[in-house]
Amino acid sequence: SDGPSDLPPEIWEKVKDHPCYSEEAHHYFARMHVAVAPACNIQCNYCNRKYDCANESRPGVVSEKLTPVQARRKVITVANEVPQLSVLGIAGPGDACYDWKKTRETFAQVSQDIPDIKLCLSTNGLALPDHVDEIAEMNIDHVTITINMVDPEIGTKIYPWIFYRNKRWTGLDASKILHERQMLGLEMLTARGILTKINSVMIPGINDEHLIEVNRVVKAKGAFLHNIMPLISDPAHGTHFGLTGQRGPKAQELKALQDRLSDGTKLMRHCRQCRADAVGLLGEDRGQEFTMDQLADEV
Ligand code: SF4
Ligand code: SF4
Repeated sequence: SDGPSDLPPEIWEKVKDHPCYSEEAHHYFARMHVAVAPACNIQCNYCNRKYDCANESRPGVVSEKLTPVQARRKVITVANEVPQLSVLGIAGPGDACYDWKKTRETFAQVSQDIPDIKLCLSTNGLALPDHVDEIAEMNIDHVTITINMVDPEIGTKIYPWIFYRNKRWTGLDASKILHERQMLGLEMLTARGILTKINSVMIPGINDEHLIEVNRVVKAKGAFLHNIMPLISDPAHGTHFGLTGQRGPKAQELKALQDRLSDGTKLMRHCRQCRADAVGLLGEDRGQEFTMDQLADEV
């Protein structure tokens, strides 16, 4: 089908079959996430470590963690039963780049069996620059980086600490390092022609106005899409690490910001913040049909 007129044709060519990027495709192509990457190297104030990473996934759900070997079995089973499967993503439940060995092994195993499946991953960006060359070699064609600030002062309200080069960093130092690594990772991906989407979590009173500046910077550095996700604060899932009482944006606040940032494309408003083990067409989640106890021992 015709792409949105304001997307460069070479980008449309890459995203038109991707359920997460094309409004059209999400009715016809399915995606699945495998939760192979539980470890994380930063602390976001909005994260409750018991649940999936909020970078790409709806916080407050617990996904079934898999080894790369289990993930391969699961992907093959799903591919046999869900013929529309076109995309395999790793979105945590921690950080796919920090837990790199498991991410790499999972993708390597699956691509041997299903060479044409599109691979994508999401990351907070801290460990990303260390793996960009391998990401390119493995034909991972989409990367999502969660970037919530381009001003480390604002970062101090979002990130209490990071773990980097065998050391824990806090305060402004932590946010400066995270910011520099996110920018470097984005530039390296852009230089290699890998499609990069930026997710930002909108936190009212903390980074909501600032996301206009984030949008300007990431677009200038080559991100093809900037997706604003609402902070989901749900008391039923316990308090977040450091944002007790923090509210999420109201629907109209979210829409107003998305409208201000709109690049005119019909892309991405339908992102559902899927679970780290989501399976199926967007808007459906068949993950519970494919838990490990239901899969055959050998495929
Ligand atoms: Fe939690 Fe943030 Fe790590 Fe995701 S990146 S698992 S939200 S601390
Ligand atoms: Fe796609 Fe968003 Fe779901 Fe990821 S979380 S699979 S980008 S819709």
